[in-house]
Amino acid sequence: MHSRGLLLASWAAFAIAAPSSTTTFGHFKSSDIIERDVAIIGGGAAGTYASISLKDKGKSVIVIEKKSRIGGHTETYIDPATGTPIDMGVVIFHNLTVVRDYFARFDIPLITAGSDSGSSSDSVSANYDFRTGKEVNITSPKQADTAAAYEKYTQFLSKYPRLNDGMFLPSPVPEDLVLPFGTFAEKYGIKAAVRTMYAYNPGLGDILTVPMIENQRVWGQSLVQQLSGGFLTTAHHNNSEIYSKAQSELFSAHSLLLSSQILHSSRRDDGVSLVVQTPRGKKLIRAKKLLITIPPRLDFLAPFDLSKDERSIFAKLIDAGYYTSILRNTGLPDNLSIANARPDTPYNLAALPGVYSLSSTPVPGLKLAYYGTPRSPLTFSLSDAKVKSDIIAAVKKLQRTNAEEFEQTEPEFVAYSSHAPFYLQARPEDTKKGFYGEMYGLQGGRSTWWTGASWRGQDSSDIWRYTEEEVLPGLVKGL
Ligand SMILES: Cc1cc2nc3c(=O)[nH]c(=O)nc-3n(C[C@H](O)[C@H](O)[C@H](O)COP(=O)(O)OP(=O)(O)OC[C@H]3O[C@@H](n4cnc5c(N)ncnc54)[C@H](O)[C@@H]3O)c2cc1C
Repeated sequence: MHSRGLLLASWAAFAIAAPSSTTTFGHFKSSDIIERDVAIIGGGAAGTYASISLKDKGKSVIVIEKKSRIGGHTETYIDPATGTPIDMGVVIFHNLTVVRDYFARFDIPLITAGSDSGSSSDSVSANYDFRTGKEVNITSPKQADTAAAYEKYTQFLSKYPRLNDGMFLPSPVPEDLVLPFGTFAEKYGIKAAVRTMYAYNPGLGDILTVPMIENQRVWGQSLVQQLSGGFLTTAHHNNSEIYSKAQSELFSAHSLLLSSQILHSSRRDDGVSLVVQTPRGKKLIRAKKLLITIPPRLDFLAPFDLSKDERSIFAKLIDAGYYTSILRNTGLPDNLSIANARPDTPYNLAALPGVYSLSSTPVPGLKLAYYGTPRSPLTFSLSDAKVKSDIIAAVKKLQRTNAEEFEQTEPEFVAYSSHAPFYLQARPEDTKKGFYGEMYGLQGGRSTWWTGASWRGQDSSDIWRYTEEEVLPGLVKGL
């Protein structure tokens, strides 16, 4: 991790030969003006990938990240006692050329997830109802039925090949694509796949009422293919390593501003100007193109001089809350992972808001807890205090109801992270009216390009492919 000192040192070397300038935003000394081909807002999966790819294409970039590190939802907790990493955000990737090339560029080895000794062989999974604390016996569908369900699902998706590249929907939008996913699963005979889809795509909201097309953003053809071939993960079990290395490289190239926020902007067809608040004061960025990768919520985009069209499109997005944490003293056996399940709901799905699961980690005594909410127009519909107290209450309920199996201890958080707003998505009625065509129609307007989870899906591999194949070719034209 880079220190603030290095950040400041890199600024000293920044004094490029731009003339001082008086703009509508005020007067800037030449040492406070940064001129680049592309300014990138957000240094998560999308922004970091785009910055490295553009750099490799010979373009100059500047990434503006509000936090003190890049990586976004990729977060790795390092246990202070043992140095063991625990990925509490992104864990798995698709076995795709874009993924393998990206990790190889940073000399980070990949393995098939679950294939090495880092994965515990004596781990046990169980289902409990976190409201009652009682164990729930779930009969899993037969493997052949699940395989047949995925086959039918893939056949359905193959009717819409451009869906594998993004939310490129036919016009008019077929009714099947906006059916609630539960209705779609019954209609197309894919009920045997629902529980795995739910388990691999948390943070989406209630999977049974979410429009089919929104679950499909993650559960596209590429993800289905990984089920047979195996997912990739990093051999070091530290998915933040790629971001640490990218961060060093971007610093060395004077291409990264951490702990920084846009204050004002002017976006024109011939380029953009951005005023950025950095730890070293205000800077003026002049760039030929702008790439915005943050969730396009109106409140987040307030400094970006939005047009009426942009405002009316992004106002329609809703989202869900998704939270991760690491707990000690849960009183649960180290090798036990517990999913929240109900005996009385379709597919035994847990009610939201609620804890999805308490999973074992490579560090004895530590458990990962995942928590989610339904979709809502209210971003941050729950406070962190409420999420934390629900998690603790669930663990205590499990302990009390199963006093002979689980120890009666006081759980404590060693790490906690809110990923809200998560899984921005359109309502089905807006999707039917052509929402995604309108949203993608914004690409390139006023020198501004867009990428990230809200454009492609909550999946790093798909975001990298979408950014490389669908966004950057247009963006680099004319640079
Ligand atoms: C718990 C969890 C587990 C996941 N597991 C997986 C997995 O195993 N595999 C997988 O492929 N995907 C996984 N995902 C999804 C994946 O993390 C996301 O799809 C991906 O990170 C989205 O990338 P992004 O660049 O759009 O957003 P982010 O990664 O969130 O990056 C956005 C960045 O923008 C910054 N930012 C926000 N606002 C501003 C602002 N105003 N100015 C400047 N910077 C700003 C943020 O700090 C952040 O760094 C998981 C997500 C979560 C939360």
